[in-house]
Amino acid sequence: MTLDELLQQALDLPVKNRKRLLQSKQVTCDGKIVTDRMLTVDPVLFDIRVNGKRIGKDFGHTYLALNKPKGVLSAKKDSEFTTVLELLKEQDFDESLSIVGRLDRDSTGLVFLTNNGQLHYLFEQARFAKEKQYRVTVNGLMDQIMVEAFKSGLLLEDGTQLKPAKLRILNQSVSESSGIVTITEGKRHQIKRMFLQCGVKVTDLHRIMIGPIHLDGATQSGQYRDLYKEELQELK
Ligand code: URA
Repeated sequence: MTLDELLQQALDLPVKNRKRLLQSKQVTCDGKIVTDRMLTVDPVLFDIRVNGKRIGKDFGHTYLALNKPKGVLSAKKDSEFTTVLELLKEQDFDESLSIVGRLDRDSTGLVFLTNNGQLHYLFEQARFAKEKQYRVTVNGLMDQIMVEAFKSGLLLEDGTQLKPAKLRILNQSVSESSGIVTITEGKRHQIKRMFLQCGVKVTDLHRIMIGPIHLDGATQSGQYRDLYKEELQELK
């Protein structure tokens, strides 16, 4: 669509007012002033703002990366606990947002929210499975035997055969170890069950990556950001 069409749909202004907005340099695209009405734009991929306020998301889709704090539920509504949707500011709240790849209440880190049903559906399909990465602390030893067991694909106690996973040990001792685990599927409580199968209990679980989306240091616990253009392009 052209920038003029976007302004028309988002703001419903007559053409002379749209022209005036552009001429008076009140419109930016990815931080740069734009004045060409005929510029081709994608309101989802480009950050288009009028006087600093983002436009276009209402009729495009929303894609958010949120850093879930401990104690918050990966759900829309709950009578007892705060939910990830309740962490959104009023202007970003949207009932139709769904949570792609839930985290347990006591886990922290990256949660991906979108109202693009098609993308959510693709994520659920095994053949589109994206790598997910977690920083994990356990109450015992992580060792090379565990690394090899993860690599071969663990068989859980209920008979679930898991796909090969990667474990990179960061610190190891008999009383506490930590590492980075990468998996390509999302079974219920998968990481906790994988370590339990190896005889240790997860004491801290923090997701740092889902496919091309990474939790950067700038997104503090409880905060969120729009996906970057590059992340979106890789997801689709
Ligand atoms: N695996 C778990 O056990 N818990 C999570 O929250 C995510 C992955």
